[in-house]
Amino acid sequence: MRQQPDKPRIVPKQRRPAESPTGAAAQPLRHAEFLTTAAQWAQLPAGGAPEIAFAGRSNAGKSSAINALAQHTRLAYVSKTPGRTQHINLFRLRSGALLADLPGYGYAKVPAEMRRHWQQFIARYLAERGELVGLLLVMDARHPLTELDLRLLDWFVPRGRPVHILLTKCDKLGAQAQASTLDDVHAALEKSYGNRGARISVQLFSATRRVGIAAAEAILADWLAPRG
Ligand code: GDP
Repeated sequence: MRQQPDKPRIVPKQRRPAESPTGAAAQPLRHAEFLTTAAQWAQLPAGGAPEIAFAGRSNAGKSSAINALAQHTRLAYVSKTPGRTQHINLFRLRSGALLADLPGYGYAKVPAEMRRHWQQFIARYLAERGELVGLLLVMDARHPLTELDLRLLDWFVPRGRPVHILLTKCDKLGAQAQASTLDDVHAALEKSYGNRGARISVQLFSATRRVGIAAAEAILADWLAPRG
C-alpha cells in the first residue's frame, strides 16, 4: 500500500517481519495452558505479565483460531463450557505471557442483564487492563465488521494499542472473494481509524486449512517481544 507521508499509518494488511523469531517466540501460543477464569475485574490475575486478548462474535471461529495457533485441539474448549461463556478465560503461554479469551459477543439468546454485565466488564477490560499489549479480533470473513465489532474497536482503538484482525473461515470463500474482502476491510478500517493513528492490521485466516498461521504468530510474537 502506498503511504501518504502526512497521514497516520494503518499497518499493512499482512505483515512479514524482516527477521522471523525462532524457538518459543516463533509460535507464541504453542504449549499454552489454561490458567483461570475471571467473571469480574477483581478476579483478573495480578502480576503484570504482558497479556494479549482474543475477541470476536460468538461463532466467528475464535476458539478454533486459538486451538490452531496453540496446536492443541481442545485448549479453548474451556471457554465453551456452560457457565463460562460469559467469562474471560486466561491461558498462560510458555513465555510467561497471558492470553485472555474474551467472551464471544452478539449471541442473540444471551439475556439483556448478562449482556449489560458483559459489556461493562469488557469495556473496562479493554480500556483499563494495563497488561494488555494487543487485541486480536476474530471475524468471519463472510461477515466482517459487524456493528458490535466496530463498537469494540471504538472502545479499544483510543488506547493506542495494536489490533490485529483475523478474517477467519477464509476457506469458505473463493480466491477472488478472499482478495476483495481483505481489500474492503482494509479500506473500511483506513476510513474509520486511519486519521486516529490506529495500529490495525488484517489478514485472512483458516483454522481448518491452517491458512495464515505463521502471519498471525509473527504479529503476536512482535507484541510479546521484550522492549528494551
Ligand atoms: P467461536 O464461537 O468464535 O469460538 O467459534 P468456533 O471456533 O467454535 O467456530 C464456530 C464454527 O465455525 C464451528 O463449527 C467451527 O468448526 C467452524 N470454523 C471455525 N474456524 C473455521 C475455519 O477456519 N474454516 C471453516 N470452514 N470452519 C471453521
